[in-house]
Amino acid sequence: MSQQTMDVSQHYIAGEWTDGDGEETFESENPATGESLGTFRQGTEADIDRALAAADGAFEEWRDLSYIDRAEYLWDIYHELKERHDELGRVVTEECGKEISEGKADVAEAWHMVEWAAGNARHPHGDVVPSEIPAKDAYMRRKPRGVVGCITPWNFPVAIPFWHMAVTLVEGNTVVWKPAEQTPRCGQIIAEMFEDAGIPDGVFNMVQGFGDAGNAIVEDERVSTVLFTGSAEVGHEIAGKVGAEPGKLAACEMGGKNGIIVTEQADMDTAVHSAIMSSFKTTGQRCVSSERLIVHSDLYDEFKERYVELAKNVKIGDPMEEDTFMGPVVDESQVEKFHKYNDLARKEGGRVLVDRAEPDPAELPEGSEGGHWVGPFVYEVDYDPELRCLQEEVFGPHVALVEYSGDVERAIEIHNDTPYGLAGAIISEDYRQINAFRDYGEVGLGYANLPCIGAEVHLPFGGVKKSGNGYPSAREVIEAVTERTAFTLNNSRDIE
Ligand code: NAD
Repeated sequence: MSQQTMDVSQHYIAGEWTDGDGEETFESENPATGESLGTFRQGTEADIDRALAAADGAFEEWRDLSYIDRAEYLWDIYHELKERHDELGRVVTEECGKEISEGKADVAEAWHMVEWAAGNARHPHGDVVPSEIPAKDAYMRRKPRGVVGCITPWNFPVAIPFWHMAVTLVEGNTVVWKPAEQTPRCGQIIAEMFEDAGIPDGVFNMVQGFGDAGNAIVEDERVSTVLFTGSAEVGHEIAGKVGAEPGKLAACEMGGKNGIIVTEQADMDTAVHSAIMSSFKTTGQRCVSSERLIVHSDLYDEFKERYVELAKNVKIGDPMEEDTFMGPVVDESQVEKFHKYNDLARKEGGRVLVDRAEPDPAELPEGSEGGHWVGPFVYEVDYDPELRCLQEEVFGPHVALVEYSGDVERAIEIHNDTPYGLAGAIISEDYRQINAFRDYGEVGLGYANLPCIGAEVHLPFGGVKKSGNGYPSAREVIEAVTERTAFTLNNSRDIE
């Protein structure tokens, strides 16, 4: 286990725990109660500079290990994630407020990714292609890009860091990671795992802190690739800065304004279940959560009645209890944003169907006074592409019902009418409608007859339009963290 014994948790740089350069600290807070979960050093530009120097210095030796040897370190972490599943799941729930089965699922998603990345070390890497000239062998070989900067959000505080880092490390890159400021305890535990696994000094570095520390990673010339998952605002800023530097890459995954289409051919049970799960799991704070339900007029009234009844009754409560459906949101800024968008929806003509935005204190757990609690807010609104409440991500349990008539193409048109394109679902028993959505729905992640919440590490994970410009996560991250060399070998003495 870690050697770290300080009251104030440190950064992990060049194989050592260190206070770093700055004096400032910050607290991790339990969003259910407001209680402090620990004090953490706040990273500075100088700390990022040291971490990048360590990663840069470690690169040559790390890249020269075999894939199999690099993967060995990850296999150790895979076993530790599994052994500590329950304990780590509780830490996730304590720190970001999601209900305990989701906290544990976060840890499971992390080991799925580590398993895939480490297992991939024994799979073919690259392509052998038939050369135009018989005596020549032509093939594509992957090489690591160098120092990779990873900047992650709080809502999957164990899974997303491994979705960024596992493949990246096995491919031979070194890493400087900045965890989200809301979930530094998860960051610390992950760094302890790398330490316990004995990963060579400097290969993995973790600096706690805020956006300024993240920005110092983005702007440094030693960084070859920036992997970012988080808000559109920050992601667009990063993509803009990195895009101005030829030779550097950014793969960014951002939010969305995801929708579910319920066609006239939908099975009603599937529709209602999928919509409830997509709206309210993780208290609406998944990047794939759905804030727009686009429902055909033939079954609109029945859907509305059943959905509203369930939304009025989902259990808000202690996220540590397994029968809780929704825990708190992560912090006060999320509470304020949620109320602001609820007011906006009213102003824009939304007819409120469920207003549990400020939940009754009697239904909340003990100690909730200092926490950040909200509940379902559901309204119906006449479709108008100009409405901001139908265009902007709230990232909370804020849901619009929109009625449409006509064919599935009309529903897809409404669905696509946002600047984003992360996730979307269609509920229908008609394969033609499903295939129309598959082919014309503007999403990186599409679902049919399922809630918009699943993710599998061996599929690409990312968005289109303003939701993403590459894949910092899961299988496809390999494209962002490797160079491809097209290599041709002449087996004869003929140089023509
Ligand atoms: P955020 O953008 O505020 O922060 C994400 C990370 O970026 C944090 O580590 C933060 O410290 C850092 N950061 C902030 N400003 C920065 C800057 N100027 N330069 C560099 N780094 C900076 O996002 P959040 O609130 O942590 O997460 C919620 C958002 O993330 C939502 O919009 C959600 O949709 C999105 N998200 C997307 C996915 C996805 O896979 N598409 C997954 C999870 C979350």
